[in-house]
Amino acid sequence: MKTDILIIGGGAIGSAVAYFLKLRSPGAEVTVAERDPAYGLASTPRASGGIRRLFSLPENIELSNFSISFFDSFADTMAVDGAKAGIGLRKNGYLFIVPPSAREMLKRNLETEQRLGCNVVWLEPDELKHKFPSMNVEDLGAAVHSPDDGWLDPHSVLMGFRRKARSMGVEYLADEVTGLERRGSAVVAAILKSGARVEAMHFVNAAGAWAKEICAMLDIDVPIEPLRRFEHYFESEEQIEPLPYLKDPERLAFRPEGRGYSGGVPTLAEPRGYNFEVDHDYFDNVVWPALAHRFPQFERTKCRNTLPGLYDQNDFDGNVIIGPGAGGLVNFHMLAGFSGHGLMHAPGCGRAMAELILAGGYETIDLTRFGWKRLIDGTRLPEEGII
Ligand SMILES: Cc1cc2nc3c(=O)[nH]c(=O)nc-3n(C[C@H](O)[C@H](O)[C@H](O)COP(=O)(O)OP(=O)(O)OC[C@H]3O[C@@H](n4cnc5c(N)ncnc54)[C@H](O)[C@@H]3O)c2cc1C
Repeated sequence: MKTDILIIGGGAIGSAVAYFLKLRSPGAEVTVAERDPAYGLASTPRASGGIRRLFSLPENIELSNFSISFFDSFADTMAVDGAKAGIGLRKNGYLFIVPPSAREMLKRNLETEQRLGCNVVWLEPDELKHKFPSMNVEDLGAAVHSPDDGWLDPHSVLMGFRRKARSMGVEYLADEVTGLERRGSAVVAAILKSGARVEAMHFVNAAGAWAKEICAMLDIDVPIEPLRRFEHYFESEEQIEPLPYLKDPERLAFRPEGRGYSGGVPTLAEPRGYNFEVDHDYFDNVVWPALAHRFPQFERTKCRNTLPGLYDQNDFDGNVIIGPGAGGLVNFHMLAGFSGHGLMHAPGCGRAMAELILAGGYETIDLTRFGWKRLIDGTRLPEEGII
């Protein structure tokens, strides 16, 4: 078969790209190859759902600014045949707390966020204690509160984009890409597990934690690795005041969920690989001490559920790789390596990829610095102090 654009991977990212391509160019033939329409192991449904503007790089802050306002009206924008696409958006705020040694870094980031129009508030430890009386602030140097951020339901975001894209004419093939054919500086076709061959003018690698397998089909090495990370559900018998999404110096990241809380402590020390086993000691050994240190109410908390999932971790610098250039190819576009913040940037990156493919360059947010060239140049572009 022939199509204009073949997107490999139909998670939140691939589906957002499909939607923005069709929005901009209704006549374009857009096809998504997604091997598992149930999304059993995909990262999107396993994500925590945090959305925040708290970054150090202007590109990431701008992606959040666009994406979070997009989520504000997602239910209506993604409605199909009058059925709204609710995503459980809770704008209950996001809070970064840091030790005294990181005050300057946090201040710099706050200034960048404010310059880019974010509503962010600096909190000294006593102000923090006043706002969140249950929190132990003894070892903290400062905090930044972002009241317009929060969290949402990742699976609903994926389904919203997918349903809308299909209603606009995007075709989803329930099939696996097993090979890619290259001619000169272009990819010409994808071979699917079913035996089908799909020719296209553009190919998008939106395979998330599996992005390197797609690159390997073209003999391209990419520093994106699957990194296991647990999302735990836990409850507290003792009352705590309503909390925002919270990130603390021990890398603890959690938020309220139903009667309890959802979150975890991601670690880069985790061996890379497609590992979905649950380490039942991880909560007791790592997460619980961090929780109990921050809120004494968690002293007797128990983990009720643990869900493993994979980050598409960019071991080069922890940020997305977007656009063409890998292997000298002009029509093979990377869109992976989000390293834990892909869901919140799906709208912004979906729109950016549509601009790249249909207009030949960025028209809104300039993501040039996130391109493949930085890997060739060896120019790392990491976030400062933020995981
Ligand atoms: C525990 C956890 C918590 C997280 N918390 C957050 C958070 O709070 N906020 C946030 O923004 N992000 C968070 N993330 C990150 C977020 O989940 C990802 O960045 C995002 O979901 C990536 O979307 P994706 O579409 O690229 O990947 P996926 O959802 O994994 O989709 C990729 C798809 O590609 C398909 N695929 C792979 N190979 C092939 C092939 N050869 N052929 C066809 N299809 C293929 C797969 O089946 C899969 O469905 C978290 C991740 C985890 C694991």
